[in-house]
Amino acid sequence: MADDRDKNQCKNPSCSCPAQQGGKYCSASCEGSGGTIELDCDCGHETCSGNF
Ligand SMILES: [Zn+2]
Ligand SMILES: [Zn+2]
Repeated sequence: MADDRDKNQCKNPSCSCPAQQGGKYCSASCEGSGGTIELDCDCGHETCSGNF
């Protein structure tokens, strides 16, 4: 496996966190927002740019 972590980013558009391994989202919070576009992210990660 090559190092392709850059492609493995959370599918929540407002989230800038890397997704969990084997998943599309970084957290259950983002996964629960599937389909809806929210301006703020509630994942709780300090590095998230959508976390207000
Ligand atoms: Zn986030
Ligand atoms: Zn996320």
